[in-house]
Amino acid sequence: MSIIIREILAKSALTPSRIEGIDFALNPYTGCAHGCRYCYADFMKRFSNHNEPWGSFVDVKVNIPQLLEKELQRRKYGTMNFADLEQGAWRMEHGLGKLVSLSTVTDPYQPLERKYQLTRRCLEILLRYQMSVSILTKSPLVLRDVDLIKQFKNIDVGMTITTDREEIRKIFEPCAPPIQARIDALKQLHQQGIKTWVFVGPILPMDPNQLGNLVKDFIHYYYIDLMNYIAKSRTIYYQYQLQDALRPAYFEQCKAVLENIFNDGL
Ligand code: SF4
Repeated sequence: MSIIIREILAKSALTPSRIEGIDFALNPYTGCAHGCRYCYADFMKRFSNHNEPWGSFVDVKVNIPQLLEKELQRRKYGTMNFADLEQGAWRMEHGLGKLVSLSTVTDPYQPLERKYQLTRRCLEILLRYQMSVSILTKSPLVLRDVDLIKQFKNIDVGMTITTDREEIRKIFEPCAPPIQARIDALKQLHQQGIKTWVFVGPILPMDPNQLGNLVKDFIHYYYIDLMNYIAKSRTIYYQYQLQDALRPAYFEQCKAVLENIFNDGL
């Protein structure tokens, strides 16, 4: 799929987050070239005046490092009003900055990051201000930034892996990196002493035994989620005769197997 790329000037860098445990979201891009068919973030089209299909456009927020620097400077000198979330307060007491999620509505290591390096430049700034950071990606490109990641006091890296079956990955996540590349990246991060986790969400058709065993040695913790936005991908399930995997019982079975395997290894 060809991608429409626009360089834009964003108005702000950090967005207060309502996600539990996360204080701020930082999204260097609007849109995501990984183009996952179930992606909930396609609501961003409404806010960014895009009519194109999700996955076919990326707005590059070229000024986001400068904005981030300014916003953190204002915070440092106390002129910015940050809500003191409980977990944020705990982290501050322990000399750790508030938690910034990279990212919530895009993949911070999608292919354009190789060229623009916005995520990397933001990490450099977050490091200087000793913020806490949680990264979530589907891309081994995150390995490029291990030198920075290792310098944070409080950082974790999550890899989304939704199935062990490459043919399923190609249907639902057509432009995202292959499963084995993600597992290899998780392994390398883990071996370098970085706190790692896997996000198995949404649970796609899979062999949960196989997936659990492929991943269990390379994670400190995990999150599992079901397909929350079934309407977006129901036709795909029927097109490929995968509808059995839409049953709540299927989700519960996979979840139980994965939890067993992961909990054993933790
Ligand atoms: S990688 Fe994440 S943000 Fe990007 S399309 Fe897939 S689910 Fe959406």
